[in-house]
Amino acid sequence: MKLPLRARITAWYFAVLVVAFASFAWISDLGFRRSIEQTVNDALRANLESVQSVLVRTAPKGAAEVRAELYELAGLWAGAALLEVSDASDKIIFQSRPFAKPYRSLPPVQGTEVTFLTTNLDFLQYRVAMRTVEAGGQSFRVRAAIPTEPFDLALDRFRLILKETLPFLVVLASLAGYWLSGRALAPVNEIIKTARGIGVQNLSGRLAVPPANDELRRLSETLNDMLGRIEASVKRITQFTADASHDLRTPVALIRANAELALRRSRTEQEYRETLSRILTTSEETTHLIENLLTLARADAGAAELQFRDMDLAPHVEKIAEEAGILAAAKGIQVMSELPAGSVLVSGDCAAIERLLLIVVENAVKYTPVGGRIQMNLSNGSGSARIEIRDSGIGISEKDLPHIFERFYRADQARSREPGGSGLGLAIAQWIVELHGGTIEVQSSLGSGSVFRITLPVAAKS
Ligand code: ADP
Repeated sequence: MKLPLRARITAWYFAVLVVAFASFAWISDLGFRRSIEQTVNDALRANLESVQSVLVRTAPKGAAEVRAELYELAGLWAGAALLEVSDASDKIIFQSRPFAKPYRSLPPVQGTEVTFLTTNLDFLQYRVAMRTVEAGGQSFRVRAAIPTEPFDLALDRFRLILKETLPFLVVLASLAGYWLSGRALAPVNEIIKTARGIGVQNLSGRLAVPPANDELRRLSETLNDMLGRIEASVKRITQFTADASHDLRTPVALIRANAELALRRSRTEQEYRETLSRILTTSEETTHLIENLLTLARADAGAAELQFRDMDLAPHVEKIAEEAGILAAAKGIQVMSELPAGSVLVSGDCAAIERLLLIVVENAVKYTPVGGRIQMNLSNGSGSARIEIRDSGIGISEKDLPHIFERFYRADQARSREPGGSGLGLAIAQWIVELHGGTIEVQSSLGSGSVFRITLPVAAKS
């Protein structure tokens, strides 16, 4: 099982502290030891130098003089510093104090370079420096030593302090880390508490945004954005369901009213025919509405399957213009089309493209009064195919223009003139255009007709 975040942060903090403090202890111990060694070496070098100057001065005067001066010199040295000088055949000339451990067990003195070693003499640990000194034509072997005990004691004391204080500091800092991570995570708990209170019933609730520009603020803002999107989607779905039920209820009520009216008393065959034909028309409209609703529901669910392939737009535009011509003829409206000489290739779904064109052209027919004109143009621009559908109809007011692609939106004029519409056609048209990576725009003003422009990217030439 995983530990809670706060405990995990503290555990990590603890581990990092242990490593940091251990490294600190190790480095300071090393530094301390080096510095001690350096100090002792420097002291020994200084001692050897003074021995050398004594030897240079006294060697010509004889061994007694050498001994006397060295005796004096060694007496001046502080503490338990030792000195031993022997001649070239290792016969001892001077020894400040006999060592308990046989001095001979030390390695022989060689060369005028100082060599150092640490060894146990006289039951104590000593740092020994050795070299040969040439003076008065003789060769002296000099060994100087300083006990390391005082330094070792200081080092031990230093180590003890580290050992006693560091674990305590680690524990203290970890506790502080635990407290700090608690403080840092407190706003997250606040966010969790607020988020728990937001449900489908009160989607308008939002999380408080912390003032500091940090991760928590971004988290709150991101969650708020997400809530905003969910709220908008839920609103749209609720609206869609309400509008759909409303739009479905009307034709069903109409069918029922027609049937009830016809059945109230006996009618002539002609009257029954008329009633049945009204019922049939309304049923057809209802079927159409249900189909449109299903299309949009599939579009929302992302389940609509289109089959994209390279297709020439020209024959499809021509076909729809012909179909619209038949529809329009009944209203005395003229439908003209203009196509380019060559083909206009786009990658698209033939059925969807025809449906898109039909929606726009049928609207043009629907909202153009008797004797009007509809013009369909297809052209091939730079990298895009353009279809323009222009009518001399009732036009769309400035107020309605931004909304006509919304689901169920119908301009007032359309409501009064064309009771058959559902306000879903252009929403479906826009969805098809977007699936093809294109755009649909409208230009219109009340009373002076409308132009719908569809732009689709042309298929990449292979
Ligand atoms: P409807 O079923 O009402 O035609 P649409 O989604 O196809 O639904 O269109 C939405 C609204 O846009 C229509 O109700 C109408 O007000 C307006 N509209 C669409 N095309 C035209 C047009 N060519 N001329 C005037 N108004 C139009």
